[in-house]
Amino acid sequence: MAPSATLSTTIEDPPQPATKQQNAGIAPKTHDTDASSNIQELDASALVLTRTTHPKAIPDASELETMNVTTDHMITCTWTSTTGWQTPQLIPYGPLSLLPTASVLHYATECFEGMKCYRGHDGLIRLFRPDQNCIRMRTSAARISLPDFDPKQLQQLIATLARVEGEKWLPKSEPGTFLYLRPTLIGTEPGLSLRGPKEALLYIVALRFPTMNGPQVVTSSDDAVSVENEGAAAQGLKLLASSEDMVRAWPGGFGFAKVGANYGPSFLANAEAIERGYDQILWLFGPQNEITEAGASNFFVVWVTQNGGLQLVTAPLKDQVILNGVTRRSVLDLARTRLQSSMGGVNSLEVVERKFNMADIEQAVDEGRMVEAFVCGTAV
Ligand SMILES: *Cc1c(COP(=O)(O)O)cnc(C)c1O
Repeated sequence: MAPSATLSTTIEDPPQPATKQQNAGIAPKTHDTDASSNIQELDASALVLTRTTHPKAIPDASELETMNVTTDHMITCTWTSTTGWQTPQLIPYGPLSLLPTASVLHYATECFEGMKCYRGHDGLIRLFRPDQNCIRMRTSAARISLPDFDPKQLQQLIATLARVEGEKWLPKSEPGTFLYLRPTLIGTEPGLSLRGPKEALLYIVALRFPTMNGPQVVTSSDDAVSVENEGAAAQGLKLLASSEDMVRAWPGGFGFAKVGANYGPSFLANAEAIERGYDQILWLFGPQNEITEAGASNFFVVWVTQNGGLQLVTAPLKDQVILNGVTRRSVLDLARTRLQSSMGGVNSLEVVERKFNMADIEQAVDEGRMVEAFVCGTAV
């Protein structure tokens, strides 16, 4: 797999022969670090593939809008505290079987990832920095008492699902299409005892979402040309600042982890934003109204400082209140490597991760120093 420094990973390199993987699945390897233990590590090379006999038809654009179009297959792997990770399986997409007392259903022992697999204009299928998502999922799992795993093994499972589904679901004739991949880990142990689950299930599903770049509208006048996407993006997003009784995350909490428990309680604030004519909620924290993030995406502003310099600002990771977005990090990396020194007549941009609040924004707007604000995340 690609080193973490590369932006994307091509996943069409050597196709894995299914028979070899099936053989490997019969006798899963164990990676014992301790000779007395039979606890197995997550082992992507042991994957057993069972292909569907009822492949789905690829739905038309209007059906994709439902955000509920799953592909033909999913990957599953069970874990118990006494045996470790079992043989991973690629199987037809379908319902899970859980007992009503399963840990996840009562105590929200769940974490997930969201990433995309793209059909490029050069015909290749790529994942974007999948190593970052796999490392983050391990961090999230630890916060919610779910089992540990080698992130490289998870990445290999994700790449296999992308490879199996990409060929059909991302036709070569449709560059720019993508699958949204959702690796998920849940506590499945039945019983209502208040402790980390001793049984868990890892699964990865893929959904075909509608493409996001709508038709472009180009307008020109004597002194300006503007290119905008049709629809919401043309007007920009309107964010509603969260109220005091709607706090997404707090220092010492779990806002930094992609755990399901962060999202259910946020829908109420989001619904209010939509009802009042906004697109998203802007999550504030504390008496100073510090700006953290927006919906499930990270938030940036570009402003001119009081000293006259151009600055890109986003909230810091230090307090563990915001999600460490892969897109956030990529924006910061790109800005630091490409924009920090002036080139080609473009002013240099100072890149800062620091706390900032609503008063700072109001002042910048009042003083005419605000340049732009944007949100970023894989899904949006
Ligand atoms: C997933 C998520 C993001 C964006 O992270 P990416 O890795 O860029 O997709 C930002 N904030 C929250 C709360 C999220 O759940």
